[in-house]
Amino acid sequence: MNLVFLGPPGAGKGTQARSIVDRFGIPQISTGDIIRATMRTDSPLSKELRSYTDSGKLVPDELVNRMVEQRLGQDDCEPGFLLDGYPRTVAQAETLDGLLAQQQRRLDHVLFMDVPDALLLERITGRRSDPESGRVYHLKYDPPPADVAGRLIHRNDDTEEVFGKRLREYRDYTAPLVPYYEQAGLLRRIDGQGSIDEIRERLVTALS
Ligand code: AMP
Repeated sequence: MNLVFLGPPGAGKGTQARSIVDRFGIPQISTGDIIRATMRTDSPLSKELRSYTDSGKLVPDELVNRMVEQRLGQDDCEPGFLLDGYPRTVAQAETLDGLLAQQQRRLDHVLFMDVPDALLLERITGRRSDPESGRVYHLKYDPPPADVAGRLIHRNDDTEEVFGKRLREYRDYTAPLVPYYEQAGLLRRIDGQGSIDEIRERLVTALS
């Protein structure tokens, strides 16, 4: 199963991706996670990436495309994959189509998490990640257990100010992917409001 998760920042893509990958036995490929892992290295590339992410801007297509091409070539992607946060521009979507065509593969579904703006800010600002496991919690909707609460971090780009910029990038560059995938007959629109369990049920129904 070859899947793409599409939606604005804070839509719950990462949270829901966890249960989908468990259920279907495919890896979650989050370009945001790959970029953050690269930023933890001491390299010129890490500084360059930080200049984009800290200001809420998208990283240039050619850098992200290269990361995804490399990741999709790994053995664990053979049974399929769930791309989380990629593609984010029409140019990235076209590159992905070309990459998959070369490997005689194609996308099965594009899951679009539809969430009103008012909810996104609350989800983003309450988000905290565990640097050890990579697990993401929400202070109100998915509270962390006491033994990990002390080590959680708040991402630099999960502040209200940077969120506004990320949302504008989403509207300008990523939202056009909704009609792009609708025309390709791949878009599955999921109501992203409600509890984590309710949304998971909707996703499972859309995929079965
Ligand atoms: P995320 O964890 O998906 O919210 O991504 C965090 C940040 O990484 C984004 O705000 C962008 O700066 C960058 N990023 C992640 N995925 C992409 C992508 N597909 N294209 C461009 N930039 C990306």
